[in-house]
Amino acid sequence: MNIILLGPPGAGKGTQARLLSETRNMVQLSTGDMLRAARTSGTDMGRVVAEVMDRGELVTDAIVIGLIREKLTGDTGGGFIFDGFPRTLKQADALGDLLAEMGQQLDAVIEMQVDDAALVSRITARSTCANCGEVYNDLTKPIPADHICTSCGQTATFTRRADDNADSLKTRLMEYYKRTSPLTGYYYAKGQLRVVDGLGEIDAVAAEIARLLDHTAA
Ligand code: AMP
Repeated sequence: MNIILLGPPGAGKGTQARLLSETRNMVQLSTGDMLRAARTSGTDMGRVVAEVMDRGELVTDAIVIGLIREKLTGDTGGGFIFDGFPRTLKQADALGDLLAEMGQQLDAVIEMQVDDAALVSRITARSTCANCGEVYNDLTKPIPADHICTSCGQTATFTRRADDNADSLKTRLMEYYKRTSPLTGYYYAKGQLRVVDGLGEIDAVAAEIARLLDHTAA
């Protein structure tokens, strides 16, 4: 089963994608993670994307489609979870073509809805385990006092993303509404859109997604 998690920054796409990869043996493909890896690699591409990401703008379609194309090979496990991709109509078309070339299809697009005020407070409070990427939140899931990550069990450093600040967030939200939110109409028209309330507790959202996927698979 191949699915897209769609939603604005801070909707919880990464958290839910990680849970799905653990519970369903699915492969998480996060273009944000791929781009963050590229920027620390010291390559030309890394340098180009770093500034764009810090401003909160979208990286070019050609770059992210290229990154996804490279990953759509090999073991597909229980299927792909596209997390943060596609973000434009051009990327959505490209994903359809890439899956078709592999003889595969998209099974569901899950839109995670969260109101804007909640997004801002979530994002400005979040930090990530530098070791495994587990996401923490000062308000709802604070970093353990002993600094041992609850996911990987390592004594870890917890970092804030460079683009998790009020200025970049404004641009990221604007980019979402201008360029990514039209995808809800695109996938609705294809009969693939499912909607979950992303405001609930992590487990409640996960249960809702599981229910949708089981229903889609049946
Ligand atoms: P994310 O981790 O998904 O919030 O992505 C972080 C940043 O990476 C975004 O603000 C964009 O600058 C860039 N990015 C991630 N995915 C994409 C994409 N599919 N298209 C364009 N830019 C992307």
